[in-house]
Amino acid sequence: MHYKAFLETRGYTFKRNLGEGTYGKVVSAYCKDRRRKVAIKVIDKDEVSANYLEKFLPREMKIIRTLRHPNIVKTYDIFGLNSNKVYVVMELCRKGNLLRYINHHGALSEPLSCRLFTQLCKAIKYLHKKFVAHRDLKCENLLLDRHYNLKVCDFGFSKRLVYRHRNMVLSETYCGSWSYAAPEVLRGLPYNPKLSDVWSMGVVLYVLLYALMPFDTSNVRRLVEIQMKHKIHHPDVPAVSSEAKDLIRSILHPDVEQRITVRNILCHPWMLRKWEMEDTDEAPLSNPGSSQEGQPDENTKEEEEPTQESSDPGEGPSTGVPRW
Ligand code: ADP
Ligand code: MG
Repeated sequence: MHYKAFLETRGYTFKRNLGEGTYGKVVSAYCKDRRRKVAIKVIDKDEVSANYLEKFLPREMKIIRTLRHPNIVKTYDIFGLNSNKVYVVMELCRKGNLLRYINHHGALSEPLSCRLFTQLCKAIKYLHKKFVAHRDLKCENLLLDRHYNLKVCDFGFSKRLVYRHRNMVLSETYCGSWSYAAPEVLRGLPYNPKLSDVWSMGVVLYVLLYALMPFDTSNVRRLVEIQMKHKIHHPDVPAVSSEAKDLIRSILHPDVEQRITVRNILCHPWMLRKWEMEDTDEAPLSNPGSSQEGQPDENTKEEEEPTQESSDPGEGPSTGVPRW
């Protein structure tokens, strides 16, 4: 049976494609029971590698069931685990992924970047506290709901941290994208995945503020060399405050011992700055629905058509942010 017909039998009416990922597609659908639109990730077992099927998929399914945080995409249901297609029903993030948003709107203002980055920090603090590392943090895996709240998605590479004799068992599997990967990951060293998540967050922050990647990734050896020298180029335009630059520098520290922790990021002066509303004329910031705790999507009737932003991230004009 075609997956759209199958979804119908489960009470979901297909609406549209949202994204074509590495391990299947993501679509939006109307859920009759919940009387709202949802996003559904359809993973075709016949089209994924045996390694993904045996190792990563079961991990992802186990982990996403346990997560509950306002800045992590909520999983409503999982079915089809024993058939050839697995369906993961999630909350719908109507504004699509951050890469697409930046490709459309260019670099974000500091107040908006700070707001989104704070939400990312809170999500990662929660994850790490639950002994889970994401290992694939990048703008494509950060979604925006209708109120421009950030939600972390895609736990395909995530891993539950294991401790032996009170020491964390380090990861050895290379995960994620080059451009977001920490030097210890690129060098193939056993790595603490919490600290490499922090590095990727630094790359995300740079992309938010500049709409550019911080490092040239055309040659990995050279990339690692530059990362190890702690060389970070800050373009003159857009002008970014010295506090923001200092935070980026503390995150993108090649020495894991000296790399700032999530807890300390949250106390960094740039994060604690009180932004004036006039600092930005962007709609998202002036949107009162930005409160995190209320799970705004849940209290609203969801019948408006999704905007263009929430369509396939592979489309749309580019501001030069490479995709990986
Ligand atoms: P993959 O593992 O294949 O990368 P993802 O879970 O990252 O799959 O999803 C791929 C893309 O689909 C995302 O980058 C995003 O654009 C879109 N997408 C995924 N989940 C949702 C969601 N809950 N709401 C809206 N769009 C989503
Ligand atoms: Mg993804």
